[in-house]
Amino acid sequence: MTYPEALTCEHPGCLEPTRERKPYCSDHIDDLPYIQELVARICERDEELERVARRGWKEVDPQGLTASEILLQLSLYGDRTVPRLCRDLQLDIDVAEGFAMALARRGMVTLGQTDRGHMKVALASVGHEALREFKLTERKAG
Ligand SMILES: [Zn+2]
Repeated sequence: MTYPEALTCEHPGCLEPTRERKPYCSDHIDDLPYIQELVARICERDEELERVARRGWKEVDPQGLTASEILLQLSLYGDRTVPRLCRDLQLDIDVAEGFAMALARRGMVTLGQTDRGHMKVALASVGHEALREFKLTERKAG
């Protein structure tokens, strides 16, 4: 009995049949464009965090994944202290401060201070706007 709909993995040189009409076998599932896109974005994000840690806020990409995650947190939960952002997004304190400063310089957030001396971040209207654009781009990309 043959299965005319059975596919062979599209990875160069691989002859494995695939399941459920997927273009790649389980060994080569990373070849899927959306997985590669995701991996690329995570790599970019990690490299950005490293650069910010080493060289400070000037390395922040205001359109990057981490910036948009911070803006999203602020839009969902309101003002956040930097230590709280660090916990929620698993960032180092100096990295999170770098992002807060970079976003503040672009008018996307405003900075304040809590009674206990922590840096406090609040979403500004420019940040709202940026977040909306980011979501639109995401939807188009997905
Ligand atoms: Zn394969």
